[in-house]
Amino acid sequence: MKTILIVGDGMADRPLKELGGRTPLEAAETPNLDAVAAGGVCGIMDIIAPGRPPGSDVANLTLLGYDPLECYRGRGALEAMGAGLAVRRGDVAFRGNFAHVDDDEVVVDRRAGRIDGSVFGEHLSGIRLDAYPDVEVTVRPTLAHRLAVILRGEGLSWRVSDIDPHKTGVRVLRSRPLDGTAEAERTAAIVNELYRVLREMLRSHPLNKRREEEGLPPANAVILRGAGEPPAVTPLTDLYGVRGACVAVTPTVRGACLAAGFDLYDAPGATGGVDTDAVSKAREAERILPRYDLVFLHVKGTDVASHDGDPELKVRVIEKIDGMVRHLLDHVGPAETYLAVTADHTTSIRVRDHRGDPVPVAILGPEVRADGVSSYSERACAGGGLGRIRGKDLMPILLNLQDRVALYGS
Ligand SMILES: [Zn+2]
Repeated sequence: MKTILIVGDGMADRPLKELGGRTPLEAAETPNLDAVAAGGVCGIMDIIAPGRPPGSDVANLTLLGYDPLECYRGRGALEAMGAGLAVRRGDVAFRGNFAHVDDDEVVVDRRAGRIDGSVFGEHLSGIRLDAYPDVEVTVRPTLAHRLAVILRGEGLSWRVSDIDPHKTGVRVLRSRPLDGTAEAERTAAIVNELYRVLREMLRSHPLNKRREEEGLPPANAVILRGAGEPPAVTPLTDLYGVRGACVAVTPTVRGACLAAGFDLYDAPGATGGVDTDAVSKAREAERILPRYDLVFLHVKGTDVASHDGDPELKVRVIEKIDGMVRHLLDHVGPAETYLAVTADHTTSIRVRDHRGDPVPVAILGPEVRADGVSSYSERACAGGGLGRIRGKDLMPILLNLQDRVALYGS
């Protein structure tokens, strides 16, 4: 038996005035999602607990079957892993931006005109902190103005605050320890020193001199956020003997799947945005399915449209996901494959952010107890046979259908 788990990022929503009191899932034309619901077993799911909005990092770890309250160790390491960097247990990783700050360290542009940070590539390798010679520092540009930083050495902690103030017009923050340990205090001091060293280096960098001459904002600082270490999880391969693969663009999702022991795949035309080629992702899942037991198929665009507050766009991306499902219904044998569709959280178009409302789930496959639900939406699925489940229960439910979950007791 195989399982394909389709995750529409932030796909669930609340009823919207603009859509006549319907949610985007209810307003979209989704004959194929509806077919999954009609032939399958449905329910709704609280990712963490009722009313608790999850971040995408927490949500995806939970969908992989982990208890977020036990395993979560921040976002930075997931992002760095997802961007292809090796992060070891004990390392502390950060997400960051190349930014433009003024002489008083006030943030003028958090993205330095969306500079392509790779232009600094070789100048950023081999950064050393004289005050902390035992700490190995990796600074690696990832996408556009974004970068990853990894600290490696003894006595580090991920429990430190951001230096990125997350808005312009205010000064870059100083990192502070978030608990009373000496490790957190030392790490915060290292982060502040790293900011100073990178600031010195970038301030005088010829590339920034040239940008200033051209009237472009110089990328003269690096602001860090989201300290994290790899999540404390055992790969699903070891827990259930399941061979897993992930088709996703979003680094955090790729990092979570990597922590779960999954192999990562790219699909041509998959962008991580609203313009993504969703059917291409379905084709990739179909192509690799013979080698795996479980494929995690993630589409980011629904969340992007929600954060932009655009209901029509969200409806269109949901219809793309419907096309992806059609491809899978047409090409993947229903007798030996389970198809599950859910969202990692509700992202409300109105508030443009994650909310704690439950998400719909539908599972189609040979041995599910089909219920009376006939369409795929937040409200319709609430009447299904799965009832209301917790996020961390979805993976055992899927793997139980594959007969992979061990007996408890004897
Ligand atoms: Zn998300």
